[in-house]
Amino acid sequence: MALHPTALVKLLPLAVLIPGAYFGRGQISLLDDDLRIILDSLPYLLCLGVVLMSLQFQRGRLLLAAISVAVFYWVVQSYLQTSLNRNTDALRAYLALSFALPVMALYLLLLPERGIWNLQGLIAALGFILLGLACIELGPWILGINDAAISYTPNLNDVYMLSKSASILAGLTALVGVVLLCIRNEEIEAALLGAILPVYIALAFLHVEYISVSMCIAASLSLAWGLLRSSYSMAYRDELTGLPGRRALNERLKMLGKSYSIAMIDVDRFKRFNDTYGHEVGDEVLKLVASRVRSIKGGGTAYRYGGEEFCVVFPRKTVEATLEPIEKIRDGIASYNMSIRNRSKRPARMKEGSRLRGATRLGSDQVSITISAGVAARSPEHPDPDSVLSEADKMLYKAKRRGRNRVAYAS
Ligand code: GH3
Ligand code: MG
Ligand code: MG
Repeated sequence: MALHPTALVKLLPLAVLIPGAYFGRGQISLLDDDLRIILDSLPYLLCLGVVLMSLQFQRGRLLLAAISVAVFYWVVQSYLQTSLNRNTDALRAYLALSFALPVMALYLLLLPERGIWNLQGLIAALGFILLGLACIELGPWILGINDAAISYTPNLNDVYMLSKSASILAGLTALVGVVLLCIRNEEIEAALLGAILPVYIALAFLHVEYISVSMCIAASLSLAWGLLRSSYSMAYRDELTGLPGRRALNERLKMLGKSYSIAMIDVDRFKRFNDTYGHEVGDEVLKLVASRVRSIKGGGTAYRYGGEEFCVVFPRKTVEATLEPIEKIRDGIASYNMSIRNRSKRPARMKEGSRLRGATRLGSDQVSITISAGVAARSPEHPDPDSVLSEADKMLYKAKRRGRNRVAYAS
């Protein structure tokens, strides 16, 4: 299981959103009454927007999260605008929320995305609703209140109100969220964390004026941002390798200036590799090649062109300037020996594969692959990106004809 610590960058917008909401809260009292009424409804409107977009994009977890933020805001507005010291019902509602927040957030974080309008999506939603009802019933009891007596009281006289046990639960949930974000490296986890944190702040500092409205706005904005980001990556990122895909490349090509070079990179004899080791191992190899190509120097940006082909765009670079970085990648891949870990998943054609695989096989569990590349730059003969790309493709096939594991370029 690979960890992606860089996925934590996805949490950076929170560093603006949460302090912004906290300090923006101070300005609410300066607004006139009409504006304040609109602002009071803003969390509902934003959540409604996220619900509609989630339905459109089939994002079950964001849908449930947006509904939960709206319900949270409604409970705070309807039941918790009173002193919890004197009102047992309000205290019960507060404890129910304190328990429901981490438990339901954990459920959403752990739930794999199954869409909405299918059996699994509907079962997941039903499970979420039942869990919510159980939290409302059990939360106050688990956190220490029963009909006979209040044996537990939150820190009602302090600014920080959440009890120790509820705080620990919330902290653990956030930790699980961060770990899942680093494992899955997806926008949805970041968006969920970005909603959990402000809701937690609203609950913990409930005494602070306008905290619930400002934090629920922050939570719903985080969900909306995550939804937009995940739709963007669905359209522009290649799922297997995480590189920007063909659509992103096409957009980039439209924006190139007067001087640029393009490299086409292709994995050598990859069909044979797949036939020998199976498609799954082939996919792992593509991920490895992608991670190497992504780190190319010289100002190049890598894209997955399709299949086992990659494209690198070098704005403002001559062919000569790109050769060293490309050679470095080619050499790095050729000299890297990969271990094949999962023997059981090798295809039945393994024996035949052993006969076919020839040069790629190093030892029982070690393989290596090579890539070829073709490079071309904008020139009077190739004045637009499409013709530079097709020239780079011609060069690629020249490299193949010359024996592969090499770079050919139009001079
Ligand atoms: P050459 O050295 O001439 O490029 O030979 P090649 O076998 O790499 O070229 P060819 O175009 O005949 O085969 C490309 C193969 O790439 C076919 C397909 O099995 C494999 N391939 C394409 N996309 C994927 C993918 O997403 N995953 C895996 N595992 N294989 C893929
Ligand atoms: Mg190919
Ligand atoms: Mg190939």
